[in-house]
Amino acid sequence: MASLIGGTAAAVPFGWRFLWLGAWLGAVLWLVLDAWRAQQLLHVLRNDATGLPSRGPGVWGELAERIRKLLRTREQQARQAEDRLQEFLAAIQASPNGVVLLDEQGRIEWCNQTAAGQFGIDADRDLLQHLANLVRDPAFVAYLASWNYSRDVVIDAPSQVGMHRGHPVRLSVQVHPYAGNRRMLLTRDITSLEQAEAMRRDFVANVSHEIRTPLTVLAGFVETLQNLPLDAEERARYLALMGQQSHRMETLVNDLLTLSRLEGSAAPPATRWTRVRALMAQCEDEGRGLSSRLASQGHRLSFSVEVDSEIAGAPTELQSAMSNLLSNAIRYTPGGGEVAVSWRLLPDGRGEYAVRDSGPGIAAEHIPRLTERFYRIDRSRSRETGGTGLGLAIVKHVAQRHGAELRIESAVGKGSRFALVFPVTRLRQTAALSAVA
Ligand code: ADP
Repeated sequence: MASLIGGTAAAVPFGWRFLWLGAWLGAVLWLVLDAWRAQQLLHVLRNDATGLPSRGPGVWGELAERIRKLLRTREQQARQAEDRLQEFLAAIQASPNGVVLLDEQGRIEWCNQTAAGQFGIDADRDLLQHLANLVRDPAFVAYLASWNYSRDVVIDAPSQVGMHRGHPVRLSVQVHPYAGNRRMLLTRDITSLEQAEAMRRDFVANVSHEIRTPLTVLAGFVETLQNLPLDAEERARYLALMGQQSHRMETLVNDLLTLSRLEGSAAPPATRWTRVRALMAQCEDEGRGLSSRLASQGHRLSFSVEVDSEIAGAPTELQSAMSNLLSNAIRYTPGGGEVAVSWRLLPDGRGEYAVRDSGPGIAAEHIPRLTERFYRIDRSRSRETGGTGLGLAIVKHVAQRHGAELRIESAVGKGSRFALVFPVTRLRQTAALSAVA
């Protein structure tokens, strides 16, 4: 038996045995190498995966390459998403409205600069602070806690940051819940809006009042004429008074239309030239007529044109502004007083139309408000002489439209001086022009 076995073993040739052994050893080596490379790959992946080989042999090499590509794509996507997020945040930063993001507990997660300025928040220091602790306006705190955000809440911005011409900045705040219990606060500065609304209300009230007064007087006269037997003389007197009232309403409506035309129309032409002498001649006609109507004694009127010039702009507007200043001087200066109208060139080349009077003068506190609509110092004198309270508002508009400046100098008891100073760009000298021609 032993010889049989020994005989079989001896029957396998030595070369074959060597081949088997080699194949076996090779397989083991290949397995070890494969396991080592898998281990290497795992090791790299377990760390930060940045050291992945770019291209290796065999299945592990390809696997590493594919993982690397996949990671690179993901990285690019993450970078793009981050860039877009930064762009969104930059856009929200640039918004004129404030944006604050609150977490579930009402703590500040993020806010833009506008909101930080409006609420007086420090975007870094106050992060994760409760907003209700920083903005303590009771209306705001109640609104935030109510979880009823169907409308906005209007509050004063915290006083130390929010002042606008001496008044607190008014903020409209609206909350929008998102992602469950998170909240986004949008804030809007509505100070100008509220001021414009208040001005509109005042304006409507003023116009209604100005029209109602003559209307009431007219209605009274109509009733008298209807109910009382009047002789011809009385009737004529009443009709004259009615005429005065309707004329007053007509003047008011005309001034209102002039103002709305000035506000709504295109800029006055820069190439349409009007001679100052012609404008002054018209002023003189109107001024003398008005003076003789108002004061039995009349005024000492003088008109002078130092250098005849031409002004570029809308002739009717220029005439209206100049006549308005002259008519004011005559209306507020008692008969016998002096009114001097002049045109001259200033040393810097600008042109000045000035009306100086020896009237009652104006106290300093009134001067900045004179161009407000319906602002009057001497109400009864204004009404008696047919004033609407809109004259200087019209003058200011015309001046602005022509790039001119309205200067008012006055002192009580010392008369007044109203001047329109036109820029060089809107002037040319008639003498110079004719010389060139
Ligand atoms: P009004 O139609 O009432 O004259 P204005 O707008 O022209 O309205 O003027 C506003 C107010 O300025 C007048 O009511 C008047 O009190 C004052 N005012 C204007 N011009 C003069 C002046 N030359 N002297 C004194 N007060 C003046």
